[in-house]
Amino acid sequence: MAEFTMELNDEQKEVRDWLHGFAADVIRPAAAEWDEREETPWPVIQEAAKVGIYSLDFYAQQYFDPTGLGIPMAMEELFWGDAGIALSIVGTGLAAVGVLANGTEEQIGTWIPQMYGDVDDVKVAAFCSSEPDAGSDVASMRTRAVYDAAKDEWVIDGTKTWATNGGIANVHVVVAVVDPELGSKGHASFIVPPNTPGLSQGQKFKKHGIRASHTAEVVLDGVRVPGSCLLGGKEKLDERLARARERAKASAGERVKNAAMATFEASRPAVGAMAVGTARAAYEVALDYAGTRLQFGRPIIDNQGIAFQLADMRTRIDAARLLVWRASWMAVNGKPFTAAEGSMSKLFASETAKAVTGQAIQILGGNGYTREYPVERMHRDAAIYTIFEGTSEIQRLVIARTLSGMPIR
Ligand SMILES: Cc1cc2nc3c(=O)[nH]c(=O)nc-3n(C[C@H](O)[C@H](O)[C@H](O)COP(=O)(O)OP(=O)(O)OC[C@H]3O[C@@H](n4cnc5c(N)ncnc54)[C@H](O)[C@@H]3O)c2cc1C
Repeated sequence: MAEFTMELNDEQKEVRDWLHGFAADVIRPAAAEWDEREETPWPVIQEAAKVGIYSLDFYAQQYFDPTGLGIPMAMEELFWGDAGIALSIVGTGLAAVGVLANGTEEQIGTWIPQMYGDVDDVKVAAFCSSEPDAGSDVASMRTRAVYDAAKDEWVIDGTKTWATNGGIANVHVVVAVVDPELGSKGHASFIVPPNTPGLSQGQKFKKHGIRASHTAEVVLDGVRVPGSCLLGGKEKLDERLARARERAKASAGERVKNAAMATFEASRPAVGAMAVGTARAAYEVALDYAGTRLQFGRPIIDNQGIAFQLADMRTRIDAARLLVWRASWMAVNGKPFTAAEGSMSKLFASETAKAVTGQAIQILGGNGYTREYPVERMHRDAAIYTIFEGTSEIQRLVIARTLSGMPIR
C-alpha cells in the first residue's frame, strides 16, 4: 500500500494551470506599471474577482484542501506573476483567515463577504497587528481595547503600522491588548466595521518593493465597536484569559516548550510559497537569458560560472518548495511542529528568494540592473519575505528555541 506521492492530483493541476494562466496573462503584464504607480491595482483585483480568484470561495477551497497544498500552490503561482499585485489580491485573504480561524460562524458570515465586496464593487481588508514599538516584539503592543459593559462596546485606542491595505480597507481586523499583565497572551482581535468613526489612515509608506501593495499606518482614536466585534466572543476570551493567568504562574522553562506557536507555524509556509513564486520567476528569466545572450561567441550559459549558478538557484528553489509543502501538509494533518517546520520553511524560502533574485540580476548583467527587465523589481520585492510575518532572525529564534527548549535570546 504505497500512499506516498509527490504528485499533485488532477484537480490541483487544473487549478494551478488556471492560476498560472491568470498570472501570466493578467498579472505579469501589469506588474511594471503598478510598481511605478505605487498604487493598489484595483482593475487587476477586479479582474481576479470576475474570474473567481478574488473571493472567499476560492480562498476557502484552497485553505481547506485536505492535502494542504492548495494555499502554497496558489501563492506560488500568483506571486510568480508579480509580488506587489499578488499581495493586493491575497492581502484580504490573510485578514479573512484571522476571522476564519478565531471568529464565530456568525462573524464569519457577516464580515468576510464585506471584506471582499462584490465583482462590481470590490473591497479589501487589512490585518493590523504591528505597531511602531511592537514589531518583532509583539508582546510590547500598546493599542488598548477596554470593555464598556454598560453599552456592550469595546473602545480601542492606539496606532498600528505597516498594515497591508490599512486605511483603504472596508474591514480592518485589529489586534489589541485586553489584559496588559499577560503580554501577548492578553491580546484579542476585533473587527472594525466599514466607516467606523475614529479609525483613520496615517502615513502611507513609499517602499523599496511590492510597491503595488498599499502599506500604511492606521490610527485608532476612541474607536467604538459593538461587543459582537470581538472575534470568538467574550465568553471564549474570558476563558482564554483565565487559562493564561494560570499558565503565567508556570515556570519560564515550561513556556519555552511552546515556542513554535501552531498558528504561525501553519501560516508561515504560505509566505514561504510567495517567496518560492518570486524566486522561480527570476530564475526562469535568468535561465532564458543565459541561453540566448552571446558573449565570446557562445551563449553565456556555456560557462560553468553561469550554469552552476543556475543549477544552485533551481536546487534551492525546489528545496524551498519541499519545505513549504511539508509544513503545509503537517498543518492540515495536525502534526506537531516539533522542529518549528513552518518557520523553517519561511526562513529558507525567503532567504532563497533574496539570493536567487540577486543572482538573476548578475546573470542578466547591465540589463538585469535596469527596469527594462523584471529581475530588479523581483529582487526589490523579494526583500520583504525576510521581514514580514516574522523576520529571518525571529524564525531562527523560534526554531532554535523549539529545538533546544532553551530561552535563547
Ligand atoms: C511591506 C510590509 C507589509 C506588512 N504588512 C503587515 C500587515 O499587514 N499587518 C501587520 O500587522 N504587520 C505587517 N508588517 C509588519 C511586519 O510584520 C514587521 O515589519 C516585522 O514583524 C518586523 O518588525 P519591525 O519592522 O518593527 O522590525 P524590528 O522588530 O524592529 O526588527 C529590526 C531588526 O532587528 C531584528 N531583531 C529584532 N528582535 C530580535 C531578536 N530578538 N533577535 C535577533 N534579531 C532581532 C529583526 O530581525 C530585524 O532585523 C508589514 C511590514 C512591511 C514592511
